[in-house]
Amino acid sequence: METLAYGFPKLGEKREFKNLLENYWKGKISEEDLIKGINALRDWMVGLYKDTVDLFPSNELSYYDFMLDTAIMVGAVPSRFGEFKGLSTYFEMARGSQALEMTKYFNTNYHYLVPELEGTDFKLLKNYPLEEYLYFKSKGIETLPKIISPYTFLKLSKALVKGSSPLPVYHLSKIERFEDLERYLLALLPVYEEVLKQLRQEGAKVVLFEDPALCYEMESQEWDLVHEMYKRLSEHADIYVMTYYDSVSDYKRFVDLPVKALGLDLVSNRENLENIRKHGFPSDKKLIAGIINGRQVWRASLTEKIRLAEELLKYAQHLIISNSCPLFHLPVSTQPEEDLPVHQVQIEGLTSLSLKERLAFAKEKLQELNLIKRAIEGDQQARMMVEKVENIVSVPFGVNQEVRRRVNALTERDFQRELDYKERIKLQQEILRLPTFPTTTIGSFPQTEEVRKIRASYTAGKVSPKEYEEFIKKQIQHVIRVQEEIGLDVLVHGEFERTDMVEFFAQKLEGIATTKHGWVLSYGSRVYRPPIIYGDVYRPSPMTLNEITYAQSLTEKPVKGMLTGPVTILNWSYYREDIPKKEIAYQIALALLEEVKDLERAGIKIIQIDEPAFREGAPIKRKDWDEYFDWAVKAFRLCSRANPQTQIHTHMCYSEFNDVMEYIYQMDFDVISIEASRSKGEIISAFEKFKGWDRQIGIGVYDIHSPAVPTKESIRSVLERAMKVLPKELLWVNPDCGLKTRRWEEVVPSLKNMVEVAQELREKY
Ligand code: GLN
Ligand code: ZN
Repeated sequence: METLAYGFPKLGEKREFKNLLENYWKGKISEEDLIKGINALRDWMVGLYKDTVDLFPSNELSYYDFMLDTAIMVGAVPSRFGEFKGLSTYFEMARGSQALEMTKYFNTNYHYLVPELEGTDFKLLKNYPLEEYLYFKSKGIETLPKIISPYTFLKLSKALVKGSSPLPVYHLSKIERFEDLERYLLALLPVYEEVLKQLRQEGAKVVLFEDPALCYEMESQEWDLVHEMYKRLSEHADIYVMTYYDSVSDYKRFVDLPVKALGLDLVSNRENLENIRKHGFPSDKKLIAGIINGRQVWRASLTEKIRLAEELLKYAQHLIISNSCPLFHLPVSTQPEEDLPVHQVQIEGLTSLSLKERLAFAKEKLQELNLIKRAIEGDQQARMMVEKVENIVSVPFGVNQEVRRRVNALTERDFQRELDYKERIKLQQEILRLPTFPTTTIGSFPQTEEVRKIRASYTAGKVSPKEYEEFIKKQIQHVIRVQEEIGLDVLVHGEFERTDMVEFFAQKLEGIATTKHGWVLSYGSRVYRPPIIYGDVYRPSPMTLNEITYAQSLTEKPVKGMLTGPVTILNWSYYREDIPKKEIAYQIALALLEEVKDLERAGIKIIQIDEPAFREGAPIKRKDWDEYFDWAVKAFRLCSRANPQTQIHTHMCYSEFNDVMEYIYQMDFDVISIEASRSKGEIISAFEKFKGWDRQIGIGVYDIHSPAVPTKESIRSVLERAMKVLPKELLWVNPDCGLKTRRWEEVVPSLKNMVEVAQELREKY
């Protein structure tokens, strides 16, 4: 038996990666220093692997994103970037004014850059796998070059295709037709073959292919194509294929692939293991068993994992144990976390236990693989350790009987608002008296350097709670005045007290921990700290009431209450696995409902419950969608069961709505605001296709990610396009997302233009 690990977080122990990149972009360090710094991170990462596992990859330390690297490797540099000139073109493609589109990697919160294929004219532009392989080889370290498979690459790319109206004649779209896929794949293969040939010449025998797209539901002819692909690639290397995030869509076809080793995720699903048990595993191939969870932070029950590995040894002649998916969904190490919650427990010799003891981040996961192997081989010390861990992971932790009772007592009524939308809207309009084309924003206003500084000083204890509260109040006064001056109809309090829309609530709720150093990359150099839902969740006291009611006291116009929805809090956090996900969502929803009730009692008339991660949490396979959306929709309905006269808004961004309109509609909100400017009309067409849409909708009239002030014409054109599809009574006017990353100088004129357009439309229509 061997161990293999891959996908280790490249961020570094102290966010070195982020600092290097940002310093380079700001011109504070030279290209040479950047390269030196990145190489130091490479050494660090491979050093960790080398100390703990038998097999490990290279080509993992991308300067920005591995999909971008792959696109460049095969020469897919869109013509607008001109000739490829190294790092300058590289970062232009990643983050320039005409950068590639960004989207979520499968159902994770990692965002990759979507390769744009202008044709089938591929060529080997940069052999990144070879460069890194040689880098380590020169240091006497043998690594397995890791590459995204051509199939997954194409599945995640967009190609220029001919469209039917109303879309432009040529536009970028996923490669959906089999003939197109085949054409692109056949064009791409020679480049990959060349990469492998060069690698072989330099001595690389084994190459790791990541092919998670094999977990999507696939047609038989696609399997034929994938089979052919690996047949050709196998002529140049010993290929190990990795799949992850779900079960492979056809086990028999998968194990039949002409490669040396097959990787299966045995954590995220039950099917893979069931299939091994039912159909066995080919004797001439190695099994790479992903048994250590790469997406969740829990320390594994090693006893259980050892039992599993021993069972797998019966099926596979040669077993390699591994993490279930790339480790970059995890922070680097639990080691610097000193302030995690401690709970009373009763285990032999222990009365209290820190959450830290129950966690394993990326480094600790490597140790787990190492321990499992040693324990199986009979190492006494490892065996003792396994037993100790068993005690720690098996005791109940953070249980709250009252919360459990409330979730168990839920009935259908709890998921239903008292009146139908048609009745509600009349009551709401009587109170709100909004004009047609009402204007609003999504919630946050610029988080200036000053705001961030004061908040940091407050967290560090250098600013007193009283001073901090006064400071936030000042910000709220300012933002209310600005919004009134601009003439917006529905105001917000600006969210100055919030670092992050999920972390803020996590800090206020019991049963959820937040870390100090648990950073994870979401894209480029952008990091966030996912909270950890470890126990039963409840709300010890109001979370947003003070700020919202203060804002409302300053104006006659309605101020929206602003909450993050249960599904988003859950999907952007790590979560416990001892109770169903659905139950966690209901616990959070119940806590949010208490907040909704408090806001209502305090006179708040509109409440927005943001759900930007609602869509992305959907499972990879469509057959699993009903189950997910069933509880996701119910969780939203549970927390939004407000009085009929309270107007419930929701907000979503960067989502593909086309396939999920049915579920979105079932959420039963009164108003939804969505991003639309980046996906250029695709979203509006989703509403066009949905029959019987009757809810109000704010289609984002401009892209908040760009510093440019939108022209009135561009704003008007989005609205006029929407009016072709939806009755004007349903339309709201708002930017496409929160304004927190923008500057005041950009925000004020942009919103002024927006409000003017709304006023003009009111006169015209
Ligand atoms: N209310 C949040 C804000 O305005 C919404 C953020 C989001 O959708 N990602 O920042
Ligand atoms: Zn948004």
